[in-house]
Amino acid sequence: MGLYSVKSMCAVVEARWFTEDGWSVPQILRPILPSKIALFLWQVQKNRIASKENLAQRGVVLENGAPCIFCLSTTESVAHLFLHCPRIWMLWIAVLHREGISWSAPASISTLLDEWGALRKSTSRILWDLIPYALCWEIWMARNNVIFHDKIFDPEAIWESHAFLIFTWMRAWWKDCPYDANQFARGFTKIDVHAKVSTRPVISWKPPQGLILKFNVDGSFQSGRAGIGGILRNNVKKVAGKFSRKVEVKRADEAEVLAILYALLFCQQFMVYSVEIESDPSLAVDWVCGTKNRPWNLTNELNMIDYLLPLVACRGVSHILREGNMEADKLAKEGCSREEPI
Ligand SMILES: [Zn+2]
Repeated sequence: MGLYSVKSMCAVVEARWFTEDGWSVPQILRPILPSKIALFLWQVQKNRIASKENLAQRGVVLENGAPCIFCLSTTESVAHLFLHCPRIWMLWIAVLHREGISWSAPASISTLLDEWGALRKSTSRILWDLIPYALCWEIWMARNNVIFHDKIFDPEAIWESHAFLIFTWMRAWWKDCPYDANQFARGFTKIDVHAKVSTRPVISWKPPQGLILKFNVDGSFQSGRAGIGGILRNNVKKVAGKFSRKVEVKRADEAEVLAILYALLFCQQFMVYSVEIESDPSLAVDWVCGTKNRPWNLTNELNMIDYLLPLVACRGVSHILREGNMEADKLAKEGCSREEPI
């Protein structure tokens, strides 16, 4: 029996089917786009996702005629959900408006993808080509959150998340990316991706050994607000817990120390033992691991960390590059504006 990862499975699927069907992920996007997202858009384009219309056609009985959860006016087909729903089409309009063009809705996602390249005016090619992947993925996430988690539909959140998603993909690939998340959020037309940007090897999250759990944490400071986030996973990347909340500090490095402290308190409270912690800001990790040059204003927090480390049998606190810490990074950024902690 062989060993397979999602990535290797996607590679097989891509090689065997994408090209046979006359559809493939553009070469330029392959080192940037996660396989999961590429596979998802392929399924959308082939009408092979579990939309309510597709489920009904397979004999699944759905209540009230299986309406679109966003507008409740018509059946949730793939074309309606991702394009024609008036509450979704406005997002595509916003993308095209930014580009300075107007466009009538295409009949299907397949047509949209066929025509997409020709619609670009001022956005860099790579960013432009990533938009349908990010937008469709976030629409699907929002749809699932409304159906399965009773969340309220918020098109602005989809808009912000799709820009942030593209930012995280680009930061992982573009070695010297000079732009931050806020600049991506403000629009792509001012972001210049040259043909020869220096790219970095893909650095991904590495699973912990055996029964040890790994807590990836991060702190963030944006627009005068600070947040912390963390995600606890086992060796098969199963999530055992996570947190995202705002904190009352004035600097990013203070938030980063609090993120480590909060992860340890989390472990103590939920009796998680044998854990390792990874954080991408190296300064906070240096303060935690050494006793010299610690800032006086964080003495209490660092003393508490010293006390908790052996208590939860922490195997170590180490530094990881941001690309391997994306989930914690996102939770920390979301924490900055979160009223209720999770
Ligand atoms: Zn709708």
